[in-house]
Amino acid sequence: MSAPSQTYDVAVIGGGLVGASIAYGLAKGGTRVAVLDEGDIALRASRGNFALVWVQSKGMGMPEYAGWTVRGAGLWPQLAAMLKADTGLDLCLEQPGGFHLALSEAELEKRKGLLQRLHNQPRMHSYDYEIMDHSRVKAMLPEIGPQVVGASYCPLDGHVNSLRLFRALHTAMERAGVRYLPNHPAEQVAYEAGAFRVATPRGEVRAGKVVLAAGNGNARLGPMVGLDVPVRPQRGQVVVTERTQPFLRYPVVTVRQTDEGTVMLGDSVEEAGPDPTVGLPIVSSIADRAVRMFPRLGGLNVVRTWAALRVMTKDGFPIYDQSVSCPGAFVATCHSGVTLAATHAFVVAPAIAAGRLPAEEFEVFSARRFHVPAAA
Ligand SMILES: Cc1cc2nc3c(=O)[nH]c(=O)nc-3n(C[C@H](O)[C@H](O)[C@H](O)COP(=O)(O)OP(=O)(O)OC[C@H]3O[C@@H](n4cnc5c(N)ncnc54)[C@H](O)[C@@H]3O)c2cc1C
Repeated sequence: MSAPSQTYDVAVIGGGLVGASIAYGLAKGGTRVAVLDEGDIALRASRGNFALVWVQSKGMGMPEYAGWTVRGAGLWPQLAAMLKADTGLDLCLEQPGGFHLALSEAELEKRKGLLQRLHNQPRMHSYDYEIMDHSRVKAMLPEIGPQVVGASYCPLDGHVNSLRLFRALHTAMERAGVRYLPNHPAEQVAYEAGAFRVATPRGEVRAGKVVLAAGNGNARLGPMVGLDVPVRPQRGQVVVTERTQPFLRYPVVTVRQTDEGTVMLGDSVEEAGPDPTVGLPIVSSIADRAVRMFPRLGGLNVVRTWAALRVMTKDGFPIYDQSVSCPGAFVATCHSGVTLAATHAFVVAPAIAAGRLPAEEFEVFSARRFHVPAAA
Protein backbone atom coordinates (compact mmCIF):
# COMPACT_ATOMS: atom_id res chain seq x y z
CA MET A 1 0.00 0.00 0.00
CA SER A 2 1.45 3.37 -0.89
CA ALA A 3 1.06 6.47 1.24
CA PRO A 4 -1.93 8.55 0.22
CA SER A 5 -1.21 12.03 -0.97
CA GLN A 6 -3.96 13.76 0.98
CA THR A 7 -3.32 15.74 4.11
CA TYR A 8 -4.60 14.65 7.50
CA ASP A 9 -5.48 16.65 10.58
CA VAL A 10 -3.11 14.48 12.64
CA ALA A 11 -0.38 11.97 11.78
CA VAL A 12 0.21 9.59 14.68
CA ILE A 13 3.63 7.95 14.38
CA GLY A 14 3.50 4.50 15.97
CA GLY A 15 0.66 2.02 16.05
CA GLY A 16 1.30 0.41 19.45
CA LEU A 17 -1.10 0.74 22.37
CA VAL A 18 -0.26 4.41 22.96
CA GLY A 19 -0.62 5.48 19.32
CA ALA A 20 -3.74 3.38 18.75
CA SER A 21 -5.44 4.68 21.93
CA ILE A 22 -4.76 8.28 20.96
CA ALA A 23 -5.78 7.73 17.32
CA TYR A 24 -9.01 6.07 18.47
CA GLY A 25 -9.82 8.99 20.77
CA LEU A 26 -9.02 11.52 18.05
CA ALA A 27 -11.13 9.76 15.41
CA LYS A 28 -14.11 9.38 17.76
CA GLY A 29 -13.97 13.16 18.16
CA GLY A 30 -14.12 13.68 14.38
CA THR A 31 -10.43 14.27 13.65
CA ARG A 32 -8.98 12.90 10.40
CA VAL A 33 -6.08 10.70 11.43
CA ALA A 34 -3.37 8.60 9.77
CA VAL A 35 -1.36 6.14 11.86
CA LEU A 36 2.10 5.39 10.47
CA ASP A 37 3.62 2.17 11.73
CA GLU A 38 6.48 -0.21 11.13
CA GLY A 39 5.93 -3.73 9.79
CA ASP A 40 5.10 -7.08 11.36
CA ILE A 41 8.52 -7.77 12.79
CA ALA A 42 8.75 -4.49 14.74
CA LEU A 43 9.62 -4.62 18.42
CA ARG A 44 6.43 -3.68 20.22
CA ALA A 45 5.96 -3.49 23.97
CA SER A 46 2.27 -3.68 23.16
CA ARG A 47 2.55 -7.31 22.10
CA GLY A 48 4.52 -8.55 25.09
CA ASN A 49 3.09 -7.00 28.21
CA PHE A 50 1.63 -8.47 31.40
CA ALA A 51 -1.85 -6.94 30.92
CA LEU A 52 -2.34 -5.41 34.35
CA VAL A 53 -4.49 -2.33 34.88
CA TRP A 54 -2.49 -1.44 37.95
CA VAL A 55 -2.61 1.34 40.50
CA GLN A 56 -0.85 0.30 43.71
CA SER A 57 2.66 1.62 44.26
CA LYS A 58 2.62 3.97 41.25
CA GLY A 59 3.78 7.57 41.81
CA MET A 60 6.69 7.46 44.26
CA GLY A 61 8.47 10.75 43.53
CA MET A 62 5.65 12.13 41.37
CA PRO A 63 2.31 12.02 43.20
CA GLU A 64 0.50 13.46 40.16
CA TYR A 65 1.28 10.19 38.39
CA ALA A 66 -0.61 8.30 41.09
CA GLY A 67 -3.63 10.53 40.42
CA TRP A 68 -3.22 10.06 36.67
CA THR A 69 -3.15 6.27 37.13
CA VAL A 70 -6.19 6.22 39.43
CA ARG A 71 -8.03 8.25 36.82
CA GLY A 72 -6.93 5.84 34.09
CA ALA A 73 -8.16 2.82 36.04
CA GLY A 74 -11.46 4.61 36.70
CA LEU A 75 -12.00 5.34 33.00
CA TRP A 76 -11.23 1.77 31.93
CA PRO A 77 -14.80 0.36 32.17
CA GLN A 78 -15.94 3.13 29.79
CA LEU A 79 -13.20 2.24 27.30
CA ALA A 80 -13.99 -1.48 27.50
CA ALA A 81 -17.70 -0.77 26.91
CA MET A 82 -17.02 1.56 23.98
CA LEU A 83 -14.64 -0.88 22.31
CA LYS A 84 -17.14 -3.71 22.79
CA ALA A 85 -19.89 -1.61 21.22
CA ASP A 86 -17.60 -0.64 18.31
CA THR A 87 -16.03 -4.05 17.64
CA GLY A 88 -17.99 -6.76 19.49
CA LEU A 89 -14.75 -7.78 21.25
CA ASP A 90 -14.92 -8.49 24.96
CA LEU A 91 -11.68 -7.31 26.58
CA CYS A 92 -12.38 -9.37 29.72
CA LEU A 93 -11.64 -6.41 31.97
CA GLU A 94 -11.74 -7.34 35.65
CA GLN A 95 -10.98 -4.89 38.44
CA PRO A 96 -11.50 -6.91 41.63
CA GLY A 97 -8.40 -5.48 43.33
CA GLY A 98 -4.90 -6.91 43.18
CA PHE A 99 -2.15 -8.31 45.38
CA HIS A 100 1.59 -7.89 45.76
CA LEU A 101 2.74 -10.98 47.69
CA ALA A 102 5.73 -11.04 50.06
CA LEU A 103 7.81 -14.19 50.52
CA SER A 104 9.62 -13.02 53.68
CA GLU A 105 9.08 -10.66 56.61
CA ALA A 106 11.78 -8.40 55.14
CA GLU A 107 9.88 -8.18 51.83
CA LEU A 108 6.65 -7.38 53.66
CA GLU A 109 8.30 -4.65 55.76
CA LYS A 110 9.87 -3.16 52.64
CA ARG A 111 6.51 -3.12 50.91
CA LYS A 112 4.79 -1.55 53.91
CA GLY A 113 7.47 1.18 54.10
CA LEU A 114 7.22 1.94 50.37
CA LEU A 115 3.45 2.32 50.44
CA GLN A 116 3.60 4.47 53.59
CA ARG A 117 6.16 6.80 52.00
CA LEU A 118 4.14 6.90 48.78
CA HIS A 119 0.93 7.89 50.55
CA ASN A 120 2.69 10.39 52.84
CA GLN A 121 3.86 12.47 49.89
CA PRO A 122 2.45 15.99 49.65
CA ARG A 123 -0.23 16.28 46.93
CA MET A 124 -0.66 12.49 46.92
CA HIS A 125 -3.96 11.27 45.50
CA SER A 126 -4.84 8.92 48.34
CA TYR A 127 -6.62 5.65 47.73
CA ASP A 128 -7.36 2.59 49.79
CA TYR A 129 -4.83 -0.14 50.27
CA GLU A 130 -4.24 -2.71 52.96
CA ILE A 131 -1.28 -4.66 54.30
CA MET A 132 -2.46 -8.21 55.08
CA ASP A 133 -0.91 -11.10 56.99
CA HIS A 134 -0.84 -14.68 55.70
CA SER A 135 -4.26 -15.65 57.04
CA ARG A 136 -6.00 -12.54 55.65
CA VAL A 137 -4.44 -13.21 52.24
CA LYS A 138 -5.38 -16.91 52.40
CA ALA A 139 -9.01 -15.98 52.94
CA MET A 140 -8.99 -14.24 49.56
CA LEU A 141 -6.38 -16.36 47.73
CA PRO A 142 -6.90 -19.85 49.20
CA GLU A 143 -4.13 -21.45 47.11
CA ILE A 144 -1.17 -19.45 48.45
CA GLY A 145 1.70 -21.52 49.78
CA PRO A 146 3.11 -21.45 53.33
CA GLN A 147 6.02 -19.25 52.23
CA VAL A 148 3.71 -16.30 51.57
CA VAL A 149 4.14 -14.11 54.64
CA GLY A 150 1.64 -11.44 53.67
CA ALA A 151 0.74 -8.97 50.96
CA SER A 152 -0.38 -5.52 50.02
CA TYR A 153 -3.83 -5.35 48.47
CA CYS A 154 -5.39 -2.45 46.55
CA PRO A 155 -9.06 -2.60 45.52
CA LEU A 156 -8.43 -0.48 42.39
CA ASP A 157 -6.18 -2.97 40.63
CA GLY A 158 -7.24 -5.25 37.79
CA HIS A 159 -6.33 -6.89 34.50
CA VAL A 160 -7.55 -7.32 30.96
CA ASN A 161 -6.89 -9.36 27.83
CA SER A 162 -4.30 -7.01 26.41
CA LEU A 163 -3.81 -8.62 23.00
CA ARG A 164 -7.54 -8.32 22.51
CA LEU A 165 -7.30 -4.68 23.61
CA PHE A 166 -4.67 -4.12 20.94
CA ARG A 167 -6.81 -5.76 18.28
CA ALA A 168 -9.96 -3.92 19.40
CA LEU A 169 -8.20 -0.54 19.29
CA HIS A 170 -6.96 -1.19 15.75
CA THR A 171 -10.35 -2.44 14.55
CA ALA A 172 -12.22 0.40 16.25
CA MET A 173 -9.90 3.15 15.09
CA GLU A 174 -10.16 2.00 11.49
CA ARG A 175 -13.96 1.77 11.77
CA ALA A 176 -13.92 5.34 13.12
CA GLY A 177 -12.09 6.45 9.97
CA VAL A 178 -8.41 6.25 10.89
CA ARG A 179 -6.13 5.41 7.94
CA TYR A 180 -3.69 2.79 9.25
CA LEU A 181 -0.43 2.70 7.26
CA PRO A 182 1.74 -0.30 8.20
CA ASN A 183 5.21 -0.54 6.65
CA HIS A 184 5.44 3.25 6.77
CA PRO A 185 8.27 3.90 9.22
CA ALA A 186 8.78 7.63 9.69
CA GLU A 187 12.30 8.45 8.55
CA GLN A 188 12.14 12.22 8.79
CA VAL A 189 9.61 14.66 10.18
CA ALA A 190 9.77 18.23 8.87
CA TYR A 191 7.88 21.30 10.06
CA GLU A 192 7.15 23.93 7.42
CA ALA A 193 4.64 26.74 7.21
CA GLY A 194 2.61 25.48 10.14
CA ALA A 195 2.30 21.87 8.92
CA PHE A 196 4.24 18.60 9.07
CA ARG A 197 5.67 16.39 6.35
CA VAL A 198 6.53 12.86 7.41
CA ALA A 199 8.88 11.06 5.03
CA THR A 200 8.52 7.27 4.77
CA PRO A 201 10.02 4.77 2.28
CA ARG A 202 6.56 4.61 0.67
CA GLY A 203 6.06 8.32 0.26
CA GLU A 204 5.23 11.38 2.25
CA VAL A 205 2.34 11.94 4.64
CA ARG A 206 1.26 15.51 5.44
CA ALA A 207 -0.61 16.61 8.51
CA GLY A 208 -1.48 19.70 10.51
CA LYS A 209 -0.32 18.02 13.71
CA VAL A 210 1.97 15.15 14.51
CA VAL A 211 1.92 12.84 17.54
CA LEU A 212 5.06 10.89 18.35
CA ALA A 213 3.86 7.58 19.75
CA ALA A 214 6.69 5.41 18.47
CA GLY A 215 7.70 3.89 21.81
CA ASN A 216 11.47 3.67 22.01
CA GLY A 217 11.60 5.15 18.49
CA ASN A 218 10.55 8.51 19.97
CA ALA A 219 14.09 9.15 21.20
CA ARG A 220 15.25 9.52 17.58
CA LEU A 221 12.18 11.30 16.23
CA GLY A 222 11.75 13.88 19.02
CA PRO A 223 14.62 16.23 18.10
CA MET A 224 13.26 16.50 14.52
CA VAL A 225 10.35 18.51 15.93
CA GLY A 226 12.07 20.20 18.87
CA LEU A 227 11.18 17.58 21.47
CA ASP A 228 13.51 15.82 23.85
CA VAL A 229 12.32 12.25 24.52
CA PRO A 230 14.88 10.43 26.67
CA VAL A 231 13.55 6.87 26.65
CA ARG A 232 15.41 3.58 26.70
CA PRO A 233 14.41 -0.05 26.21
CA GLN A 234 14.08 -2.09 29.39
CA ARG A 235 13.61 -5.82 28.97
CA GLY A 236 10.88 -7.83 30.67
CA GLN A 237 10.41 -11.59 30.42
CA VAL A 238 7.14 -13.46 30.83
CA VAL A 239 6.37 -17.17 31.30
CA VAL A 240 3.02 -18.74 30.39
CA THR A 241 1.69 -22.10 31.63
CA GLU A 242 -0.79 -24.46 30.08
CA ARG A 243 -4.47 -23.90 30.85
CA THR A 244 -5.77 -24.95 34.22
CA GLN A 245 -9.02 -24.67 36.11
CA PRO A 246 -9.78 -21.23 37.56
CA PHE A 247 -7.95 -20.86 40.89
CA LEU A 248 -6.96 -17.19 41.10
CA ARG A 249 -9.78 -14.70 41.59
CA TYR A 250 -7.46 -11.70 41.92
CA PRO A 251 -4.45 -10.69 39.85
CA VAL A 252 -1.11 -10.73 41.66
CA VAL A 253 1.49 -8.32 40.31
CA THR A 254 3.61 -11.24 39.06
CA VAL A 255 1.01 -14.02 38.64
CA ARG A 256 -2.32 -13.76 36.90
CA GLN A 257 -4.73 -16.26 35.42
CA THR A 258 -5.99 -15.18 32.02
CA ASP A 259 -9.59 -15.40 30.84
CA GLU A 260 -8.44 -18.36 28.71
CA GLY A 261 -7.18 -20.32 31.73
CA THR A 262 -3.43 -20.02 31.19
CA VAL A 263 -1.34 -18.54 33.98
CA MET A 264 1.06 -15.69 33.19
CA LEU A 265 4.14 -15.37 35.38
CA GLY A 266 6.30 -12.33 35.19
CA ASP A 267 7.76 -10.04 34.60
CA SER A 268 11.45 -9.29 34.99
CA VAL A 269 13.04 -5.83 34.94
CA GLU A 270 16.37 -5.92 33.08
CA GLU A 271 18.68 -3.26 31.72
CA ALA A 272 19.83 -5.18 28.65
CA GLY A 273 19.64 -2.50 25.96
CA PRO A 274 17.68 -3.32 22.82
CA ASP A 275 18.13 -7.09 23.25
CA PRO A 276 14.79 -8.95 23.33
CA THR A 277 16.12 -12.47 23.89
CA VAL A 278 14.83 -14.86 26.55
CA GLY A 279 17.30 -16.13 29.15
CA LEU A 280 16.87 -19.33 31.15
CA PRO A 281 18.23 -17.98 34.49
CA ILE A 282 15.60 -15.21 34.59
CA VAL A 283 12.81 -17.50 33.42
CA SER A 284 13.66 -20.07 36.10
CA SER A 285 13.77 -17.48 38.87
CA ILE A 286 10.36 -16.12 37.75
CA ALA A 287 8.99 -19.69 37.84
CA ASP A 288 10.60 -20.44 41.21
CA ARG A 289 9.03 -17.43 42.95
CA ALA A 290 5.66 -18.17 41.36
CA VAL A 291 5.69 -21.79 42.61
CA ARG A 292 6.56 -20.60 46.12
CA MET A 293 3.54 -18.29 45.94
CA PHE A 294 1.17 -20.89 44.48
CA PRO A 295 2.50 -24.47 44.83
CA ARG A 296 -0.06 -25.83 42.34
CA LEU A 297 1.86 -24.04 39.56
CA GLY A 298 4.68 -26.58 40.03
CA GLY A 299 2.47 -29.22 38.39
CA LEU A 300 1.79 -27.21 35.22
CA ASN A 301 3.73 -27.23 31.96
CA VAL A 302 5.23 -24.04 30.63
CA VAL A 303 3.93 -23.49 27.10
CA ARG A 304 5.52 -20.16 26.17
CA THR A 305 8.08 -17.62 27.26
CA TRP A 306 8.92 -14.29 25.69
CA ALA A 307 10.86 -11.13 26.26
CA ALA A 308 9.68 -7.65 25.31
CA LEU A 309 11.11 -4.17 25.64
CA ARG A 310 9.45 -1.59 27.89
CA VAL A 311 9.66 2.07 26.96
CA MET A 312 11.34 3.59 29.99
CA THR A 313 12.21 7.13 31.04
CA LYS A 314 14.94 8.01 33.55
CA ASP A 315 12.47 8.44 36.40
CA GLY A 316 9.96 5.85 35.18
CA PHE A 317 7.16 8.41 34.66
CA PRO A 318 5.44 9.19 31.35
CA ILE A 319 6.34 12.02 29.01
CA TYR A 320 3.51 14.07 27.52
CA ASP A 321 4.84 17.13 25.81
CA GLN A 322 4.22 19.65 23.06
CA SER A 323 6.85 21.37 20.97
CA VAL A 324 7.50 25.07 21.35
CA SER A 325 9.55 25.41 18.14
CA CYS A 326 7.16 23.27 16.04
CA PRO A 327 3.65 24.01 17.35
CA GLY A 328 1.35 21.08 16.68
CA ALA A 329 3.96 18.40 17.47
CA PHE A 330 3.22 16.26 20.51
CA VAL A 331 4.78 13.25 22.17
CA ALA A 332 3.17 10.61 24.38
CA THR A 333 5.14 7.79 25.91
CA CYS A 334 4.86 5.71 29.07
CA HIS A 335 5.66 2.31 30.54
CA SER A 336 2.04 1.50 31.46
CA GLY A 337 0.24 1.74 28.17
CA VAL A 338 -2.39 -0.84 29.16
CA THR A 339 -3.30 0.89 32.42
CA LEU A 340 -3.33 4.30 30.76
CA ALA A 341 -5.15 3.34 27.53
CA ALA A 342 -8.37 5.05 28.60
CA THR A 343 -6.66 8.29 29.66
CA HIS A 344 -4.87 8.34 26.32
CA ALA A 345 -8.14 7.95 24.41
CA PHE A 346 -10.34 10.19 26.58
CA VAL A 347 -7.99 12.85 28.01
CA VAL A 348 -4.81 13.09 25.91
CA ALA A 349 -6.54 12.78 22.50
CA PRO A 350 -9.06 15.61 23.08
CA ALA A 351 -6.25 17.88 24.34
CA ILE A 352 -4.26 17.18 21.17
CA ALA A 353 -7.34 17.80 19.04
CA ALA A 354 -7.74 21.14 20.80
CA GLY A 355 -4.09 21.91 20.01
CA ARG A 356 -2.75 22.23 23.55
CA LEU A 357 -1.89 20.06 26.53
CA PRO A 358 -3.27 22.12 29.44
CA ALA A 359 -0.36 23.08 31.69
CA GLU A 360 -2.25 22.50 34.94
CA GLU A 361 -2.56 18.84 34.05
CA PHE A 362 0.40 18.06 31.82
CA GLU A 363 3.26 20.39 32.81
CA VAL A 364 4.45 17.89 35.39
CA PHE A 365 4.86 15.24 32.65
CA SER A 366 6.97 17.44 30.35
CA ALA A 367 10.51 16.26 29.59
CA ARG A 368 11.63 19.67 30.87
CA ARG A 369 11.74 17.99 34.28
CA PHE A 370 14.99 16.35 33.13
CA HIS A 371 16.59 19.66 32.15
CA VAL A 372 17.89 20.52 35.60
CA PRO A 373 21.10 22.57 35.26
CA ALA A 374 24.11 20.60 36.48
CA ALA A 375 25.26 21.64 39.94
CA ALA A 376 28.42 23.79 39.91
C1 LIG B 1 7.26 -7.32 29.82
C2 LIG B 1 6.33 -6.14 29.85
C3 LIG B 1 5.27 -6.12 30.75
C4 LIG B 1 4.41 -5.04 30.77
N1 LIG B 1 3.33 -5.09 31.60
C5 LIG B 1 2.44 -4.06 31.61
C6 LIG B 1 1.28 -4.12 32.42
O1 LIG B 1 1.05 -5.12 33.10
N2 LIG B 1 0.45 -3.06 32.43
C7 LIG B 1 0.69 -1.93 31.67
O2 LIG B 1 -0.08 -0.99 31.75
N3 LIG B 1 1.75 -1.88 30.85
C8 LIG B 1 2.63 -2.91 30.80
N4 LIG B 1 3.71 -2.87 29.96
C9 LIG B 1 3.93 -1.68 29.15
C10 LIG B 1 3.07 -1.56 27.93
O3 LIG B 1 3.12 -2.72 27.17
C11 LIG B 1 3.64 -0.35 27.17
O4 LIG B 1 3.49 0.81 27.96
C12 LIG B 1 2.96 -0.09 25.92
O5 LIG B 1 2.87 -1.22 25.13
C13 LIG B 1 3.75 0.97 25.17
O6 LIG B 1 3.14 1.17 23.97
P1 LIG B 1 3.76 2.09 22.90
O7 LIG B 1 2.72 2.21 21.87
O8 LIG B 1 4.32 3.33 23.51
O9 LIG B 1 5.06 1.31 22.38
P2 LIG B 1 5.19 0.05 21.43
O10 LIG B 1 4.23 -1.02 21.75
O11 LIG B 1 6.64 -0.34 21.46
O12 LIG B 1 4.79 0.58 20.03
C14 LIG B 1 5.55 1.53 19.32
C15 LIG B 1 5.13 1.44 17.88
O13 LIG B 1 5.81 2.44 17.16
C16 LIG B 1 6.30 1.89 15.96
N5 LIG B 1 7.43 2.70 15.50
C17 LIG B 1 8.66 2.82 16.04
N6 LIG B 1 9.41 3.67 15.32
C18 LIG B 1 8.62 4.10 14.30
C19 LIG B 1 8.82 4.99 13.22
N7 LIG B 1 9.97 5.62 13.02
N8 LIG B 1 7.79 5.19 12.35
C20 LIG B 1 6.59 4.57 12.52
N9 LIG B 1 6.36 3.71 13.54
C21 LIG B 1 7.36 3.49 14.42
C22 LIG B 1 6.65 0.45 16.31
O14 LIG B 1 6.67 -0.35 15.16
C23 LIG B 1 5.50 0.09 17.24
O15 LIG B 1 4.39 -0.38 16.54
C24 LIG B 1 4.61 -3.94 29.90
C25 LIG B 1 5.66 -3.96 28.99
C26 LIG B 1 6.51 -5.06 28.96
C27 LIG B 1 7.60 -5.06 27.96
